[in-house]
Amino acid sequence: MGEKIQKLLIANRGEIARRIMRTCRDLGIATVAVFSDADEGMPFVREADEAVRIGPAPSQESYLKIEGIIDAAKRTGAEAIHPGYGFLAENAAFAEACAEAGIIFVGPSPSAIRSMGSKREAKALVAAANVPVIPGYDGADQNPEILAKEAKKIDFPVLLKASAGGGGKGMRIVRTEDELPDAIAGARREAEGSFGDGALLVEKYIERPRHVEIQIIGDQKGALVHLFERECSVQRRYQKIIEEAPSPALNEELRAKMGQAAIAAGQAIAYYGAGTVEFILDANGDFFFLEVNTRLQVEHPVTECITGLDLVAIQIAVAQGESLGFAQEDLRLQGAAVEARLYAEDPDQGFLPGSGGVIDWHCESLEGVRYDAGVEAGSEVGIHYDPMLAKIIASGSDRGEAIRRLRSALRHLSVQGLVTNREFLVRVLEHPRFIAGDIDTHFVQDSMGEAPALSEAWLDRGLIAAALWAEAERREARPFLGASLAGYRNSRFALESVEFALAEEEYGLRYVALGDERYRFVIGERELVVRRGARSGRSIDIEVDGIRSSVRVVWEADQVAVQHDGIARTFTIVPRFPDASGEDVGGGCTAPMPGKIVEVRVEAGNRVEAGDTLVIMEAMKMEHSVVAPHEGLVTEVRVSAGDQVDADAVLVIMEDEEAAAD
Ligand code: ADP
Repeated sequence: MGEKIQKLLIANRGEIARRIMRTCRDLGIATVAVFSDADEGMPFVREADEAVRIGPAPSQESYLKIEGIIDAAKRTGAEAIHPGYGFLAENAAFAEACAEAGIIFVGPSPSAIRSMGSKREAKALVAAANVPVIPGYDGADQNPEILAKEAKKIDFPVLLKASAGGGGKGMRIVRTEDELPDAIAGARREAEGSFGDGALLVEKYIERPRHVEIQIIGDQKGALVHLFERECSVQRRYQKIIEEAPSPALNEELRAKMGQAAIAAGQAIAYYGAGTVEFILDANGDFFFLEVNTRLQVEHPVTECITGLDLVAIQIAVAQGESLGFAQEDLRLQGAAVEARLYAEDPDQGFLPGSGGVIDWHCESLEGVRYDAGVEAGSEVGIHYDPMLAKIIASGSDRGEAIRRLRSALRHLSVQGLVTNREFLVRVLEHPRFIAGDIDTHFVQDSMGEAPALSEAWLDRGLIAAALWAEAERREARPFLGASLAGYRNSRFALESVEFALAEEEYGLRYVALGDERYRFVIGERELVVRRGARSGRSIDIEVDGIRSSVRVVWEADQVAVQHDGIARTFTIVPRFPDASGEDVGGGCTAPMPGKIVEVRVEAGNRVEAGDTLVIMEAMKMEHSVVAPHEGLVTEVRVSAGDQVDADAVLVIMEDEEAAAD
């Protein structure tokens, strides 16, 4: 057993940096974190044995700067670098730079990375090894006319993909010929912006496929095995949000076939280290190669759960020349595991990524549940990096048990201060189609629908908890009055009143203390008898009409987040004497988030229809269209291509019909 690696640098951030450190600690390897200015306060920096500042927030100037990272490794004496996923993980030049500096790169060979980095080259290579690929055009001639001709040959619908792609960026489904020119231009622009390479592939678009991928792992002596499959069909924007192993769509026979194909693909490029061969599986049980990810995947924990292996430990072992130490026959698939990715994003706004400060982070410790989190209370989630906050992974003896555990973990998890997809994930895990394993890559789009409205019972309880919390805070803030009952009035008609706002709604509550921690509340037409129980840390017990439950309350300035029964909402306290309201720019079309203006489609004097694209912005490496909210005349355009704008910045002013009519 070699013990070459005593100290390892992690060229990454967030949850994956912490995940890698956990294994290093287990193995007795010292860790070095690298961090940008934006990440100084993040847990992964503090948890590393040493940490090196590598530059300002934009990743091009920090996490993607090869020299800076190599230099940090040399200065700290790290013998190895683990790239995590994203950033430099699939950058062959980085792997080479490590080798030149005499540093072990924890990953595959630069040549394997290079050949799989181009979807075009990868397809050709694996097709030669008899792995089924999707029919399509992967030629070097990128003339739009050639792409159009090839698309017609394949027949619509087709899918345009960035050859250098990843994370669903630069992909466009094209159903008819006349959509092609715009789609080619958009996909190319996104590909150039994200990968610096605008080359596109044209593929037959497979309707309603499942995404099934095979984990492979090999050593430098030629041993290569697969660690079964992961199903990742629950996606939005071509990006996974729930992953599981095993796939409910595979039987032993198909599993063996796909495993074989993955190994053939790996052998074709003499693969070592951990990698993933991605396939799509159609309704007939035919599968087609998508790509090889030459790194550790976000969703690797579900494979760890069903195999009992630590993939990071194996990566480190094979990187320092050790043998795998097991063969395919030694591996057993046991139980089931499901992972959910918690993102700072708004499912009600097309999964628009968000940012903000995490003011509450609370995970329940539950049987079979693992939390791989990048944040903690107090963390800032900025706009510079991927908005994934954490992965929650549950395992069980079968799929049903794993799902139930994950659901429970997500329902009890409290994350306040920013909008997340937590409740959306719970709804997926409750969906009859998901529970039946009847999913495809369109599941979210086709079946998830809108979130149900809040029930009256939830609202009553949430509002009462907020009101009683506020009252207790007031009592504590006025200690000399503490002995007297806040909200207490002699006259039964003189009620305390408090008002909360949620989205567009305002909710007024009136209540009176009856003594002995009992209250009478009036909400709308309803009268409720409430008993106030203990308040501890961030939760308060309340009994409403004879049913007691605990409500989590997080108070910050004029915002109060309440969570119970798995649902959380943040109310704004409506001041009794409202501030003069800020200036309102009538009919303004504003930036939904901070970002860069890519294209301006209108100019002053244009008439537009509701829904017409006014401006295209890029934020979080994705393009977003800002559309006209109503039909009308554009009177002013305040931005031009290339501008950097803040959230809510006014981009375009339109003559507002309603205002004009006033
Ligand atoms: P990326 O590298 O950007 O993640 P992939 O090639 O891995 O792109 O594809 C991502 C997802 O897009 C897949 O999981 C699948 O849902 C969908 N997809 C890719 N190619 C096709 C295709 N030809 N037909 C239908 N869906 C596809």
